[in-house]
Amino acid sequence: MPIAFDKSFTQQEPIPEAAIARAVEVMRTGKLHRYNTAPGESSEAELLEQEFAKSLGVEFCLACASGGYAIHIALKACGLKPGDTVMTNAFTLAPVPGAIDNAGGKVALVEIDENYCVDLKHLEATIKSSGSKFFLISHMRGHLADMDAVVTLCKQHDVTLIEDCAHTMGAFWNGKASGSFGDAACFSTQTYKHINSGEGGFLTTNNKEVMARAIIHSGSYMLFERHGTAPDKEVFKDIKLDTPNYSGRMDNLRASILREQLNTLSENCERWNRLYRAAEKGLRKNNSITLPERAAQETYVGSSIQFRADKLQDVADFMARCAKRGVELKWFGNNEPHGFTSRYDSWRYLGEAPTLPNTLRILDRTFDMRLPLTFNEQDMETITDIINDELSNTL
Ligand SMILES: *Cc1c(COP(=O)(O)O)cnc(C)c1O
Repeated sequence: MPIAFDKSFTQQEPIPEAAIARAVEVMRTGKLHRYNTAPGESSEAELLEQEFAKSLGVEFCLACASGGYAIHIALKACGLKPGDTVMTNAFTLAPVPGAIDNAGGKVALVEIDENYCVDLKHLEATIKSSGSKFFLISHMRGHLADMDAVVTLCKQHDVTLIEDCAHTMGAFWNGKASGSFGDAACFSTQTYKHINSGEGGFLTTNNKEVMARAIIHSGSYMLFERHGTAPDKEVFKDIKLDTPNYSGRMDNLRASILREQLNTLSENCERWNRLYRAAEKGLRKNNSITLPERAAQETYVGSSIQFRADKLQDVADFMARCAKRGVELKWFGNNEPHGFTSRYDSWRYLGEAPTLPNTLRILDRTFDMRLPLTFNEQDMETITDIINDELSNTL
């Protein structure tokens, strides 16, 4: 039995050398601002937008300051007005309700199901009870709901669908890229996501007006033609005067280190999945652990794993025992927000929290573990042995 695990759960891989070299080149030019280009020259940000849009199979991509920022302006660009209600699944990260609040929206939380996906029955009931015309689906921790059913439901009720793909960059549903289902989609390039520029985000869409508004919101100073993927100038005619500048551009330095990482994204997704399958295999040895079932249509990116221990009494004790042996688990059931995790009823600015019994019950016994690419399959065996061991000590 392994005594302890000694690698860090927050240690990412280094930035690839080719990306570092490109970043150094950009710094030597001094032209870090995305619009600082000579006539006919394309900036790194422009090129990144073209490359990401192409890789996703969508028409437009806007590179911006963060994933949360992308969600904020996606909501505005899709026509959200102050006081409008936005539905989102209750299991998500704090920047999601934060972005809705920032855009002036009210939040209507939707239950999740046993596999951490949005509960489609409750979604339909919420559409009817709230009259909301916006659904921000957060593919939290990479779990994709039945996207065909989600799209059908939204179309049926004339609901605008925005995807939060912070954990699904590189994932597919039924062979179609996550982020290509909604009216718009948002991605994060923050350090703990699938490509790393420290901070950063993308907004993608096939809708010309949405893209034009998003570009103006992002702070284009009327230089909207200097975008890798922009609709025709005509589309901006009124939009450029009717849309506020919310200053949140991406700079060329970040863009330069992301471009190279796009080339290795699918390879890295495979590496994450090898870790995920190894972790799954280790945890399956324990019959008091429940793992989410993953649909046959889902090509996920296993950059983290979630599991449930329904019979566990003392969560804090179990987590402390694992931590003592170097295994860092997170728990979304805590009453108080902690680090990156918070439960929906701690977002007090939303007003009185609804009671979502399924979400609360599921989160109450769910553990979450990062799988950084600095780990290997052997590490997964060590980690899951420790978890299984401590769980049997605690139960
Ligand atoms: C990280 C994250 C975001 C926001 O991304 P930032 O780039 O940190 O603003 C949004 N949704 C989810 C589910 C996330 O994990």
